[in-house]
Amino acid sequence: MKFKSLFISSLLLASQSALLTAETPSLEAKDIKIAEQLRDEALKSSKGYAIVESLTTEVGPRMAGTAGDAAAVAWGEAKLKELGFDKVWKEPVTFPTWKRGVETAEVVSPFPQPLVITALGFSVGTPKGGLSAEIKAYETLQDLKDAPENDAKGKIVFIKYRMKKARDGSGYGPAVSARGSGAVEAAKKGAVGILIRSIGTQSHRMAHTGMMRYAKDVNKIPAAALSSPDADLLENMLTRGKPVTVKLTLGSYDGPEYTSYNVIGEITGSEKPEEYVLIGGHLDSWDLGTGALDDGAGIAITTAAAELISRLPERPKRSIRVIMWANEEQGLVGARAYAEMHKDKLANLITGAESDFGADRIWRIDSRVKPEALSVAKDIAKVMEPLGIKYGNNRAGGGPDLIPLRQLGVSVFSLRQDGTDYFDYHHTPDDTLDKIEKEALDQNTAAYVVLAYLAAQMNGDFGQKVE
Ligand SMILES: [Zn+2]
Repeated sequence: MKFKSLFISSLLLASQSALLTAETPSLEAKDIKIAEQLRDEALKSSKGYAIVESLTTEVGPRMAGTAGDAAAVAWGEAKLKELGFDKVWKEPVTFPTWKRGVETAEVVSPFPQPLVITALGFSVGTPKGGLSAEIKAYETLQDLKDAPENDAKGKIVFIKYRMKKARDGSGYGPAVSARGSGAVEAAKKGAVGILIRSIGTQSHRMAHTGMMRYAKDVNKIPAAALSSPDADLLENMLTRGKPVTVKLTLGSYDGPEYTSYNVIGEITGSEKPEEYVLIGGHLDSWDLGTGALDDGAGIAITTAAAELISRLPERPKRSIRVIMWANEEQGLVGARAYAEMHKDKLANLITGAESDFGADRIWRIDSRVKPEALSVAKDIAKVMEPLGIKYGNNRAGGGPDLIPLRQLGVSVFSLRQDGTDYFDYHHTPDDTLDKIEKEALDQNTAAYVVLAYLAAQMNGDFGQKVE
């Protein structure tokens, strides 16, 4: 009797410890070896470059809701099939659209000259013949907010703030608020229009577009960005002390609702096919350039990484899902639709990462995983070390299209690219293929293939409801 109960309790112990070992997050040496081989293979492949070359050449600009958007969806589906993904499908995403139309500006007085501008996304148009008004300048959005009531009455507000260059892109946050809410704040002070210095870091004579928003019960005024040299020009004129009058003409307007698609390709797992690692980039772009850096590069890097894994003699344990996200630029629309559609099955999503910061080299990997899985995140980082990548911290953002999933507790990784030059081109006509260096793109693919493969193979998981 005693012997029997001992036997049972030791059985119980054995099964408990088996359960514990099975659930403790860890990597196996053989998988690390395969990840190293995939990494080295990626550095020689140049597959990513072929993908972004194809997207920018055969589709080009693909702003949400345009013919380019539809062409990009067809391209994405065909490309994933051509590359041999096990499953390819698309999920619908519906949103309002915006049309750009004509966009011109000129100084009327005291020194008549043309200005290079571009409308901000979702700006209303001006009256047909244009809008002429005196310029009222502010150093920052905050200065505009702090100004007295009616300070800009009947005027066109000009925000002078210059975005600062930084490897981690940290100059963008403080600058971009003027683009997002400048029109609302200017209208509150009685302005009839707003011009901002482009949210960018270069001196070419091109203006940067991007999203802006209106608020309920605040007058909707036209909003545009000036190229940096034209912002300088306006500043110089203002130092003469005479009123500067500008004529602004925007033909932009809201279009009808449109349905696009998140395009999804999967390498199906061999042991736990319902569980998956999510990587990807956004398929839409702004309309001015060909969207090579934003975000053709992200599409290329992650698709190439998954394709490399599909060439292994055996499928990974879990599935790898590449998502070409719909309409990121106008408010993470595809990402929100995906999170809503898949929110009941998030336990299957082991981790996610989006590549959406250009095509320069990755220098750091951040994680957002449960504490017990931190050692696995650091082991993954170790495999990336020969690529010049170091582990950073456990506060990863995961990329814009991962935000809705991260907010639901999904574990994410950030493979942080060098963004020093990114805002030289971002959202301008200059976002074109020639800005991409093949070797840098391969380095990115090498890092993503390591992350995707090891996350698909790991024992245990990165956690659910990760803070
Ligand atoms: Zn982007």
